[in-house]
Amino acid sequence: MNVLITGGAGYIGAHACKALKAAGYTPITFDNLSTGWRDAVRFGPFEEGDLLDRARLDEVFATHQPVAVMHFAALSQVGESMQDPGRYWRENVMGALNLIEATVAAGCRHFVFSSTCATYGDQDQVTLTEDTPQQPINAYGGSKLAIEGMLRDFSARHDLETVIFRYFNVAGADPEAEVGEFHQPETHLIPLMLDAIDGKRPALTIFGTDYDTPDGTCIRDYVHVMDLVDAHVLGLKWLQADKGSRVFNLGTGSGFSVREVVDASRAVTNRDVPMTLGERRPGDCTKLVSGSARAIEDLGWSPERSTLNQMIADAWRWHQGKGYSR
Ligand code: UDP
Repeated sequence: MNVLITGGAGYIGAHACKALKAAGYTPITFDNLSTGWRDAVRFGPFEEGDLLDRARLDEVFATHQPVAVMHFAALSQVGESMQDPGRYWRENVMGALNLIEATVAAGCRHFVFSSTCATYGDQDQVTLTEDTPQQPINAYGGSKLAIEGMLRDFSARHDLETVIFRYFNVAGADPEAEVGEFHQPETHLIPLMLDAIDGKRPALTIFGTDYDTPDGTCIRDYVHVMDLVDAHVLGLKWLQADKGSRVFNLGTGSGFSVREVVDASRAVTNRDVPMTLGERRPGDCTKLVSGSARAIEDLGWSPERSTLNQMIADAWRWHQGKGYSR
């Protein structure tokens, strides 16, 4: 059974391809390689193409006749989205519209979408459940929320069922280190910290130490990429069992501050973490922690690798390898 994976050459998409192949599906990667890596496409066919090119999408649907779509491809940096909101609205939202229309036109009925906790915005709640009102404070979250709305409207009108996953902070890597996290430029906390630890950059800058949290740094809920992609396989099976459209948070329910992540990295790698204290990064929420009961109860998801130490250990193993080349 073919599944179309947009962004299959990216960090999360490549891990999803590995999990889908292990579950007996054939992942067909569709990627424009703007941020992804040809080298990361290891578990099924590759189709180079851009979501803004509808004719190319139609061609790929006709060739592979996928039974489902998993839509990972997107620009995903909060800071960049504040600098260049137009790019986020154009590429994320218009790209998704093309893809959803192509999916419906091809008669493909199942669609799994990568949304984000950034759609909730900064809220004074201990945990964010799927029913928490969404009020994004950055263009990245805004663009993802728009796509959620689009999916709701298309499923009301067409024969399309959707699973929407709202990711919290995805971390770690494939324990076999076949694929891992590799962005250029890198903007994420854990890989930047590992770079600082092994001298690839001078220091990690902590973005803001005056937040209203116990140690003044932002709190996030980190989830292991392998657990996250396992949930996608479960989500696909959910749709194929005709259980209907559903939204799920994917996080663990435990929040860690930036300083706590630094402390855990020091312990796991047994190395010093060179760091400097910097200004807040525009668009960052103070605290994002998931209420994750729904995925656990409905999908039978068990995020067992998602301890901070395991995520850092797996990321560190991958980090010490050779990465990808284009
Ligand atoms: N962060 C930081 N220094 C960095 C990169 C990130 O202090 O060089 C902080 C960032 O402000 C946020 C957390 O680490 O509070 C996670 O950021 P990341 O970019 O990894 O993910 P995001 O939460 O933006 O999706």
